[in-house]
Amino acid sequence: MRISKLAFCTWLLTVGILVPGVIPAKAAARKEPQEKESEALRVVVDRIIAHENGLIQTLQSYRPRVETYLQGYQPDRELGIMPTGDYYFLGGMESGKDVQAHSFLPSRPGVLPHFVSTAAGGAFKFRYELDSFAQASLIDSHGLDREHYRFQFLRSEFLGEVRCLVFDVSPRDHAGRGQFLGRIWVEDHDYAIVRFNGVRVNPPRNHVYFHFDSWRQELQPKVWLPVYVYAEESDVNLPMLFGLKTMTVRFRSQTRYWGYDLRPSAREEELTRIVVDAPVPVHDNSETAADPSPLASQREWQNEAENNVMERLERARFIAPAGDFDKVLETVVNNLVVTNHLDYLQAIHCRVLLTLPFESFTVGNTIVLSRGLIDVIPDEATLAMTLAHELGHIALGPNLEAKYAFADRLSVSDDQLLGALDLAHSPEDETSADAKGLELLKNSPYKDNLDTAALFLRAMAQKGPQLPKLFGAHLGNRLADGNHLLRMAAMMQGAPQLQPARLDQMAALPLGSRLKIDAWSGKVELAKSKTVAPVSAREKMPFLVTPLFLNLTRKPSTTAPLPPGDKATAEYKQP
Ligand SMILES: [Zn+2]
Repeated sequence: MRISKLAFCTWLLTVGILVPGVIPAKAAARKEPQEKESEALRVVVDRIIAHENGLIQTLQSYRPRVETYLQGYQPDRELGIMPTGDYYFLGGMESGKDVQAHSFLPSRPGVLPHFVSTAAGGAFKFRYELDSFAQASLIDSHGLDREHYRFQFLRSEFLGEVRCLVFDVSPRDHAGRGQFLGRIWVEDHDYAIVRFNGVRVNPPRNHVYFHFDSWRQELQPKVWLPVYVYAEESDVNLPMLFGLKTMTVRFRSQTRYWGYDLRPSAREEELTRIVVDAPVPVHDNSETAADPSPLASQREWQNEAENNVMERLERARFIAPAGDFDKVLETVVNNLVVTNHLDYLQAIHCRVLLTLPFESFTVGNTIVLSRGLIDVIPDEATLAMTLAHELGHIALGPNLEAKYAFADRLSVSDDQLLGALDLAHSPEDETSADAKGLELLKNSPYKDNLDTAALFLRAMAQKGPQLPKLFGAHLGNRLADGNHLLRMAAMMQGAPQLQPARLDQMAALPLGSRLKIDAWSGKVELAKSKTVAPVSAREKMPFLVTPLFLNLTRKPSTTAPLPPGDKATAEYKQP
């Protein structure tokens, strides 16, 4: 791969780059005679516009986490699509005059240029503006109005449990930069837009806008906030070399938002409860009366380091709050503990890292699995294999640097936290944990079902080279590096071969198969999906991004909405 001295053309691929000042002033929009619209349509469109513009104000009070994952692909006759590369972005979304995403990644791989060599020996450059995917949370960050947009009612239909009115929306003229062209779904109580899909028009020079499908959920009563965006392009031909050649770009991506409840005031509310409301607890010191021995103190020190790390990761909404799904993981760990007579270990807890890249790691006596990894694991034996490696670390002794017992070690901003924490193990410790994990599995109830776990490892080794970002890790060790499997590699010996055409062999699931995130609190729970069996190899889609339909529901409206910021709240409540 080289950059030729031949002229190369830079393309920016984006779903929405809204350039302030480039959009013609609203007064400059072409005046058209207003279409004759019925009274009912006029009232509804007025309320849609008021609601959407209220949301733009409301969003300024939040700083949710935003994560974009993008897979480039080529068509494949047997498998439908074959991934060719991937990109990843994680940050905090801030909306002011425009929506921006502030990177949490130590490096910014999302905007690294992607070079494509050509047969002619030249090289072309394009890059995905991944943080611009955050802008797909809004139809138009400059607001909706009748002067710039035309609304046409189509029909009503249900999205999940919510009845929606469906409209086509188009710019009145195409002079404005980045205006929206497509369809909106509006719930029929308060006329909040709950889904919109389409494209932006009139990109700046050397930019391309892509199609996207953006979803919102009612996260607090009457407060619908962005939660998910799917973007896809299958046939964008970029002219290169002064138009003499073209290059086709194909990709699918998903963007998720969560952690809207992050408010410093929440802690102060807790303080108020402790100081004002709570009765003073009676301290029972009958068991702790003894002075701690050096060993007991050492353990207490380790526990303090563990609590500091977990508490800080949860506060930044990288770790989901403790919940019922943790118990599912803990049941599998318990099966390994009991059958291996490891009852002497301290109580082991499991938690979910809310990010996508596949990883698992151990913080003291807590095992953490990433949401993305849990999503693609096909069965309980494969889950047991993943947990057995981590249980191996715990059985081998203290695994967390005790330096985190000092409170100042983690007093960094959320933006810097992933770069400041290092929870990865040395290659020697990884090898020992693999060996211990294998030993634990051989004594466990999963010992006769490990073929699927080995197939999962084979699938990881196969897709690792094309999807390096998916197999990256924020905090722990990578599971695969290129086609080199780094985790439990010994299990692949004697394992069955991958047979992509066999429909009863599911080595790994598509992304998003298991967990759903409550975007308000970051809590996770198992998705209640009905099992749909693939009818061809093209529907197996291991590790792939797919479109996702959300099951929209309503919140009971007994309590008042809770968005912070009085002014924004007042505007948002406006019918
Ligand atoms: Zn490990």
